[in-house]
Amino acid sequence: MPEQLSNNLIKGGRLIDPASGRDGQFDIRVIDGKIDAIGASLETGDATVIDAKDCVVTPGLIDVHLHLMKGLGAFGVDPDIFGVGSGVTTVVDAGSAGHTLLNVFRNYVTDNAKTRVLNYINLSTLGGVSGPGYSILADPRLIDEAKIEQAVEANRDIIVGIKIMATGGALGGQGLKPLERARKLGDALKIPLLIHIGESWTKGTEPVAIGDVLKYLVPGDIITHMFTVHPGGLLDGNGKLWPQVREAKATGVLMDVGHGLHNLNFDVARKVLDQGLHPDGVSTDGHRGNRAGPVYDLPTTMAKLMALGFTLNQVVEMATANAAKLLGRTNGLGTLRVGDPAEISVLKIEDREWQALDSQKGMIPAKQVITPVHAIRGESIYRPLPVERP
Ligand SMILES: [Zn+2]
Repeated sequence: MPEQLSNNLIKGGRLIDPASGRDGQFDIRVIDGKIDAIGASLETGDATVIDAKDCVVTPGLIDVHLHLMKGLGAFGVDPDIFGVGSGVTTVVDAGSAGHTLLNVFRNYVTDNAKTRVLNYINLSTLGGVSGPGYSILADPRLIDEAKIEQAVEANRDIIVGIKIMATGGALGGQGLKPLERARKLGDALKIPLLIHIGESWTKGTEPVAIGDVLKYLVPGDIITHMFTVHPGGLLDGNGKLWPQVREAKATGVLMDVGHGLHNLNFDVARKVLDQGLHPDGVSTDGHRGNRAGPVYDLPTTMAKLMALGFTLNQVVEMATANAAKLLGRTNGLGTLRVGDPAEISVLKIEDREWQALDSQKGMIPAKQVITPVHAIRGESIYRPLPVERP
């Protein structure tokens, strides 16, 4: 159970809030669940002090890609495990629910969670019901535009886009037609498309070329699994970025990490990063099958990006300001503003050498560990759930 505090002072930490430009010693006063003041040295008064000495304090972290319908297939996980139980205040489900399950998702997942839970609705009516190896878009009847539009219009507060499995396995004989239909829906509803790339589940099927997928994307759409080693990724056979990938990124198509069980490969990541293409969002692709490794939680995924060369400030920016932009929710999400409901993460950054593990058991040396200390939402202060991190 979370601790409930109506008047608290998060004191002595280093606040990193890239959207506001703050980086330094700041205290934060929270009264009745709202941010009352942010200042260099605030009076304690009768507040309960949350000691953040030697900690980094950030706007509530945002994990933009997970599978959060607990009980659904092999993946569904309780959102509070990767959410407030991991120092994260906002989590986003990537396509567990098609339009038929969306109300179930809303009533039983979003409304019951301690963490804010947003949603990418699946283009396929089947969503995650059948498991990832099934051809969920191969029958044209499995896309129902009118029902998707109704579901989105009735749930705009939680829906941030449409999830599409752009793999040969999922698309089957339909080829690129589902992408064409998704494009029209995205335009009509004015929401982005979240595209899974990489033939990670249905090996043996002809992968869809990234250049063909990108023809259907516009600025603001998102490619997830940008560091996948599986066919259909960002690199050609010589390890070079496909030119279409570079062009798409330059025009505003966004790239998300989507670590997962299969899709963070350090060799691919190094090649992509060396060619100047950086992630916009960092996400775990967290589910029941990767919590105990190799994923663990968002702070560990952020630490892996630091092992790949990003700074602490950069990974915090990815998980706060940039994640909010990617979700189209910049009004209050991903930054700290006086008067807003408190959504704050407290993290410990330690200098310790460890071996960061990717999805193919590849290892690179890492020098810093990030562990969650608290997630704060309103008056509730959450401690992280135990998980055996590396
Ligand atoms: Zn996923």
